[in-house]
Amino acid sequence: MADRYYSAQPIAGDRITLVGPEAHHLAQVARARPGDEVLVFDGLGSEFAARVERVGRGEVELAVVARREVDRELPLELSVAAALPKGDRQRWLVEKAVELGVTRLVPLVTTRGVAQPVEKAIDRLRRTVIEASKQCGRTRLLEIAEPQRWDELCVRQAGRRCHRAVAHPAGGEPARSLFELLAPPRRVDSLVLAVGPEGGFTDEELAQATAAGWSLLSLGPRVLRVETAVSCLAALVAAASE
Ligand code: SAM
Repeated sequence: MADRYYSAQPIAGDRITLVGPEAHHLAQVARARPGDEVLVFDGLGSEFAARVERVGRGEVELAVVARREVDRELPLELSVAAALPKGDRQRWLVEKAVELGVTRLVPLVTTRGVAQPVEKAIDRLRRTVIEASKQCGRTRLLEIAEPQRWDELCVRQAGRRCHRAVAHPAGGEPARSLFELLAPPRRVDSLVLAVGPEGGFTDEELAQATAAGWSLLSLGPRVLRVETAVSCLAALVAAASE
């Protein structure tokens, strides 16, 4: 796959202007010259073959050579609601979630959460989404939703074809149940999977979830870190919905 660049502006005509970090990457890191061809996507599902026309200070102009509709998404909507871990493990979690096709990440505010999801950190994670999408070939961006409190999110009404499950180390349905759920004819169009903080969900939070119709899902007898649990769940969904 050729080098890929992200345009924050939707691409409608036959010209693309890259600015900011993407222009820097193309001009300074990749040392692009007029005539070079690259791929550009705008996060809306298309991929554009484009030719560099002008490399300016802080911006690069390109001409669209071809437009392709590209679908590298999962066949269903996968939302992961997770209490984010600290530091670099947040970035790792987001990178793997993008690679594995997660549609939406909802940073959770929970009783035992250690890293409160602040706007500055969320903005950095949005940049990680772009970098990971460039690398893995996604043409739609994983959405990082506004942080939500678990006690509010878990009682929200879900659609008839939406399945919601909380990953829980102390038991629940085995993860292979996802294969039964997603086998054709698939009974759901969307999944919401929740992962708790390093200290786990409290008994009260788990009770709220089960009372609101969430099922519990086990990933085996070992306690996984938050980011490992998120990656396992996403990988299982990706494999089960192939
Ligand atoms: N002592 C905590 C507990 O008992 O919940 C451990 C929390 S674990 C580090 C963080 C989160 O990852 C958990 O809240 C759960 O959502 C998920 N998780 C970790 N291991 C899991 C497993 N074996 N099965 C299902 N979920 C798991």
